[in-house]
Amino acid sequence: LGDKLQSIFDSLKGKGKLSEKDVELAMKEIRMALLEADVNYKVVKDFVKDIKERATGQEVMESLTPGQMVIKIVNEELTSLMGEKEVKLNISSKSPTVILMCGLQGAGKTTHCGKLAFHLLKKKKKPLLVACDIYRPAAIKQLQVVSKAVGCDFFEMGDKVSAVDIAKNGIEYARKNGNDYVIIDTAGRLHIDESLMDELVNIKKEVNPDDILLVVDAMTGQDAVNVAEKFNENLEITGVVLTKLDGDTRGGAALSIRKVTNKPIKFIGTGEKMENLEPFYPDRMASRILGMGDVLSLIEKAENVIDAKRAKELEEKIRSQSYSFNDYLEQLEQMKNMGPLEDLLSMIPGVNKNMLKGINIDEKDIARVEAIIRSMTYEEREKPEIIDVSRKKRIAEGSGVSQAKVNTLLKQFRETKKMMKQFTNLEKTAKKRGKMK
Ligand code: GDP
Ligand code: MG
Repeated sequence: LGDKLQSIFDSLKGKGKLSEKDVELAMKEIRMALLEADVNYKVVKDFVKDIKERATGQEVMESLTPGQMVIKIVNEELTSLMGEKEVKLNISSKSPTVILMCGLQGAGKTTHCGKLAFHLLKKKKKPLLVACDIYRPAAIKQLQVVSKAVGCDFFEMGDKVSAVDIAKNGIEYARKNGNDYVIIDTAGRLHIDESLMDELVNIKKEVNPDDILLVVDAMTGQDAVNVAEKFNENLEITGVVLTKLDGDTRGGAALSIRKVTNKPIKFIGTGEKMENLEPFYPDRMASRILGMGDVLSLIEKAENVIDAKRAKELEEKIRSQSYSFNDYLEQLEQMKNMGPLEDLLSMIPGVNKNMLKGINIDEKDIARVEAIIRSMTYEEREKPEIIDVSRKKRIAEGSGVSQAKVNTLLKQFRETKKMMKQFTNLEKTAKKRGKMK
């Protein structure tokens, strides 16, 4: 903990229970935040009412203000409303697993068919994309381009055959062709209409999908509720893909949709590229919707005093020069627990992905460093100076990198420690001078 933070916390102790007035005051701000995030106004109203009842009378944690305490409760409640943890794709006991994609026009269905295929290919699966959008000109071609781009199989029957028949034939084709996943791309409309729903219902009856994923544009805002409600009523969706979360949208639609359908959001789309697909983490979405990243991290820090202690210990180690590769590895682990770095940074309110473009965080580099350290023995990690040529060779082979890479890491580590030593010395000198005055 930084000294500044510590002093803030120190000044805020012993607050007793949350009064009605405390809660009222904090909820004003939270209500605004939720509406700004484009959470449906009815959902906001219910939510605020629930929280008021729940929060009043609760004990305020030692290190928090009443306002922060309310935010903490809100954040927890938001997280639990959105499902606590990520929900994966369903898997059929009998191959192929069938995924039906549905949603309004322009929501991102076709793009996300490709992204899901890409996601499955990375897991060594063999997906087939089936083109059932026979209405929009060039829709079939678009899906074909997408499947080429990710390198997966593709099935079409032109636009003269009914979507239901294409879906059915697509699955037969998948069986023969050895595809373990079938992803069906369907047509959308600008607005929900009956013929669209009928067609989807018929496809559902015919192919009995394991997952029916509703694709929703996060920027749909208030209207997301109606869309989700209608699709869920007619099709009984099994999950949601929330797209276009790469912009400034705070993603209030996530909460609205979850509240009215009670179906999990399984993925989020964060860009036009095929790799821009991420699992949905309710806790991250909660803080994104609240848009109070700085307050939440304060709260988290207050809760993680143990981690803070550990950080202090590491700092001591660095200063005393006993910092080793084992400590380094532990820090890498901690970083990984927090999820992708870029995501973490972009969750801070006011920071968007564009601002992070200049900052190059290569997670592959980190993975490589980790692999090298893991190939060292415990002793080598503690005393890197014993790593001679033959040990280097073994480590390089063990981690699948060149010896040059091992050398680079060792050199960097040495230099970092040297630098730290200089720092510490400088500090000591400065302190001595200070005392002499
Ligand atoms: P469909 O009509 O539902 O099939 O929608 P498309 O897949 O054709 O997507 C419509 C537009 O949205 C295209 O220009 C896509 O590139 C774009 N798009 C899709 N998903 C995302 C996303 O996650 N982020 C951004 N920025 N654009 C997206
Ligand atoms: Mg499409």
